[in-house]
Amino acid sequence: MCPFCNPTILECVFLESQNFLAIYNIAPVLPGHALVIPRDHITSFIDLNRQQRAEFLDITTHAVRILLKAFNTDAFDMSVQEKPEAGQTIEHLHLHIVPRVKGDLPDPGDWYPLIHKSDQMVMDDKSLKRLSKKDLQIIVKKLRDVAASPELRE
Ligand SMILES: [Zn+2]
Repeated sequence: MCPFCNPTILECVFLESQNFLAIYNIAPVLPGHALVIPRDHITSFIDLNRQQRAEFLDITTHAVRILLKAFNTDAFDMSVQEKPEAGQTIEHLHLHIVPRVKGDLPDPGDWYPLIHKSDQMVMDDKSLKRLSKKDLQIIVKKLRDVAASPELRE
């Protein structure tokens, strides 16, 4: 089953809109690593219609603000992989957001290979590097609390 269509994904949701969810990554490459996904199994970024594109950008911006505040930084990376040739391993559109802090990796560009590995961990239930259910709950609750603060709304 597609991991992003599995109902258990709802435990990771810290922000939602009509057609999209912002979720904490069960296998974060760095603290704060989150994903924005469509609720429906949409594979391609370029298949989004005009209304969905606007909504996608809107919830992504809101999610970035929440993550930056929760993880106390103003730096972040973002990425979408489309098609296997580009490194897409989960066939459900997902945009990675990774908050960054000075010195978090030996080189600032080192985050990218980790993203690819992270998708494989999401696919592999037996991987040991996934967050525990308890740690996930703590982070998601914190992000939901930040999301509820009024100054982040617009
Ligand atoms: Zn899916």
